[in-house]
Amino acid sequence: MTDELEYVYKYVIVGGGIAGVTCVETLSALCPDERILLLTSSNLVKAVINYQKVSKTLESFDVQEKPMSYIQNDCPNVQVLQKTIVSLDAKNHMLRTDDGCKFKYQKLCICTGGKPKLIAKDNTYVVGIRDTESVQEFQSRLQKARRIVIVGNGGIATELVYEVEGCEVLWAIKDISISSTFVDPGAAQFFLPHLNQEKSPDEKPLKRLKYTSDKETSVEFQKSSLQTPGGALGPDWSSSLEMKGSQSLCHCVHVEYQVEVTKLWCPEELSNACKAETTNTDLPFSQHTGSWPIYVELTNGKIYGCDFVVSATGVTPNTEPFTENNEFQMASDGGLTVNDRLQTSEKDVYAAGDVCTTSWDPAPHWFQMRLWTQARQMGAYAAKSMVADDSGEEIPLDFCFELFSHVTKFFNYKVILLGKYNAQGLGSDHELLLRVTKGKEYVKAVIQDGRLQGAVLIGDTDLEETFENLILNQLDLTPFKNHLLESAIDVEDFFD
Ligand code: FAD
Repeated sequence: MTDELEYVYKYVIVGGGIAGVTCVETLSALCPDERILLLTSSNLVKAVINYQKVSKTLESFDVQEKPMSYIQNDCPNVQVLQKTIVSLDAKNHMLRTDDGCKFKYQKLCICTGGKPKLIAKDNTYVVGIRDTESVQEFQSRLQKARRIVIVGNGGIATELVYEVEGCEVLWAIKDISISSTFVDPGAAQFFLPHLNQEKSPDEKPLKRLKYTSDKETSVEFQKSSLQTPGGALGPDWSSSLEMKGSQSLCHCVHVEYQVEVTKLWCPEELSNACKAETTNTDLPFSQHTGSWPIYVELTNGKIYGCDFVVSATGVTPNTEPFTENNEFQMASDGGLTVNDRLQTSEKDVYAAGDVCTTSWDPAPHWFQMRLWTQARQMGAYAAKSMVADDSGEEIPLDFCFELFSHVTKFFNYKVILLGKYNAQGLGSDHELLLRVTKGKEYVKAVIQDGRLQGAVLIGDTDLEETFENLILNQLDLTPFKNHLLESAIDVEDFFD
């Protein structure tokens, strides 16, 4: 441990994920003469590449993990150090690291992301998926696996269920339909036939790895631990990776609906408790002889054996090193509460990305979701806000916070979510317009008071720009409503 040293910087950012990296890059562009410091416990940082603005609010980009030197080369006034913050003295504007260094800041932005919520933290047969290292761990375990249990119903679980081949998958979800974080039961129904379908050759893993943890690009490569997590993965993380189990089968998935895990049993405990695996001949699974390393008991009383369990039940904001002895206002989800300038309740401390929870009165069609796009947008906006606060300038809330928009891929379909796509907060007083072509597209428009409030667009619908405009300008659609989703009509021309 080094002696306590003190370094002073104008701006200090903690976290080398997409929020932190975007924040330092924006700060560096806005004030090229200031000393900026990025502290991150990960040895690699996240870089946004191939950024494209698809429409007013939709954006597409890839993510690459790069060595820390990448930022310093592009932004000469930024210094990047691999350090883990262990405490913050907000009154004295001081950060302390695990190797005993102290860093003083004038303004600080916390971008430490989230930690996976694991159903059993210390069980060696339970894995969480978060960063590149955890995916590598998952892949290597999967190679020897005959059956896994995936718990959770969000994006990560959905992508895993689709990507895993050569292994039986039991998918345990607490809802009435699959992928419910993102889509409604109707869209889930659209996806269901793909659960046990073989992928076409063009759906096989891409050759180009978008997420790499390339040892050659980083001399400092070392395995991250749960205490010092790497940056969270993002869009397309799964499509580039080979996820193959030990069996010669393609997809073999069984879904258990409306269940949670009540207990994990090791084989001895299970037999001591005079319990056994549920025998269910309706399942697509083979009969395996011998015992499993772990058994999962569900709230419906069923017990399934498997090689390991993937816990994909979301993340909790990673605030731990900062909260002790400070007076941060915390949100009920565990995030650092931020106002419309991304300021926390501690003076000169800002937060962006998964670690924070927004508390401003949002625009009618925006809400926070811990997604990669929002981490990028918040990182950039936090930088602008920090600089504006220094100069006493008033800046408007960025336009990106006007409309929730998200592009992703499920079951190899393009999925675009706009506004209140699941009628969030609209009560029962709304109507849904649907256009479904089996195996091709699923279009859902959420209408209230004759105006478009949100949409789910699955497949190549080409409707995103028009629908985005209709949500933003709140045009009264009453006269056209019945024709809005008619496929023969070019909706764009209709509103020109
Ligand atoms: P992170 O990327 O988590 O970065 C946090 C950084 O802080 C890391 O560099 C970490 O090393 C550092 N850090 C943590 N603690 C300390 C400390 N004490 N001291 C110093 N440094 C510290 N979003 C999408 O939009 N689409 C998707 O398809 C998608 N898929 C996902 C799949 C997976 C498997 C996961 C885990 C997430 C996915 N997400 C997706 C969510 C998205 O990745 C996150 O919302 C986003 O990356 C958050 O960025 P961030 O910068 O806030 O945090």
